[in-house]
Amino acid sequence: GDTIGIIGGGQLGRMMALSAKQMGYRIAVLDPTEDAPCAQVADYVITANYDDIEACKQLAAQSDVITYEFENIDEEAARQLSAVSDFPQGFNVLRTTQHRVKEKEALVSLDVPVAPFALITKKDEWSEAINQTGLPAVLKTCRGGYDGKGQAVVKTESELTAAIEKLLPHGELVLEQFIPFDLEISVILTKSRNGEVTVFPVAENEHRDNMLYRTIVPARITKDMEEEAVAIAERIGEGLDVVGTLAVEMFVTKDGAILVNELAPRPHNSGHYTIEACKTSQFEQHIRAVCGLPLGSSALLSPVVMENVLGEHMEPLMERLDNLQQVSLHLYGKKEAKVKRKMGHLTVLGTDTDACVNVLDQFWMQHILH
Ligand code: ATP
Ligand code: MG
Ligand code: MG
Repeated sequence: GDTIGIIGGGQLGRMMALSAKQMGYRIAVLDPTEDAPCAQVADYVITANYDDIEACKQLAAQSDVITYEFENIDEEAARQLSAVSDFPQGFNVLRTTQHRVKEKEALVSLDVPVAPFALITKKDEWSEAINQTGLPAVLKTCRGGYDGKGQAVVKTESELTAAIEKLLPHGELVLEQFIPFDLEISVILTKSRNGEVTVFPVAENEHRDNMLYRTIVPARITKDMEEEAVAIAERIGEGLDVVGTLAVEMFVTKDGAILVNELAPRPHNSGHYTIEACKTSQFEQHIRAVCGLPLGSSALLSPVVMENVLGEHMEPLMERLDNLQQVSLHLYGKKEAKVKRKMGHLTVLGTDTDACVNVLDQFWMQHILH
């Protein structure tokens, strides 16, 4: 039997597992919390921390191939996994993308434009950092941040020193120039272990409170910019020797320049639209890539808008379920609907993206929630 082991049992792992099971694979998952979204649909569940070497070995023993939905994997754990099982994505891309400055340096060395940045390891490095970035700027922890956690926008020197004081206990920091972007886009690339590459259509992403709120495809950018965004993603995929999925988040500035914000070496929230709107979903494509199957077509079947469902949306969502005819509903099986927790997502296909947005706004009835 072919069993795929997944490190991380959140919604990304769950959607990977659902695709993989449809393709006939068995799923083993490692996650610290019992009854995690992926654990609910897996065939074999290991409840342990990600850096628990014995648990990683147990996952490896159960699995013919191992992948992850969670990129903060311990290096020793990855070494053990590679020794006992097949870990085609390797540790190099993880090492780079686990640390924002290492990631930016790798991008610079590939001639990929990023916002000016500076590493901050000590309090007194703030003024040198400002020389690189100017103000306003964004201070971020180098490791572990997501959904805007461990970040602060700073407009003055005193705001910066206060933010450093607050964030430095969490480890090294990076200061980035604040980019007054026109829009944000992302490109999701898949590279199979056989070297085959596909790229999904460029997604336009709207964030609220630093969290992805809505993804619109096709992105409202010119053909030239679309080509440039894809070329950048391909350059990174090639340069970092990616296997599996690589999501590239980018800023588009007013004068049409593209800067890369950050990378994620896994399926990405901004790629959920592919489940209904592309010939092959990002999850199926990822499974094909790590299992060494030929990749599917990444072609777009229809204009589409995807919207996240957060904890605070759950009650009103459930009240509107009788209006769901045109909306695809995905729920992740999370028990507690905490504020800002990603509980699920909605997808709408339509003749154009404005029509999709209208369906969602109608669904929520007069923007009650937005
Ligand atoms: P994710 O959940 O995407 O992993 P994260 O916590 O890693 O989020 P970033 O992607 O670095 O955070 O930032 C979150 C959002 O904050 C970005 O999508 C963008 O809207 C805004 N942002 C981040 N950095 C900058 C910047 N340098 N200039 C302007 N806006 C920024
Ligand atoms: Mg991130
Ligand atoms: Mg991000």
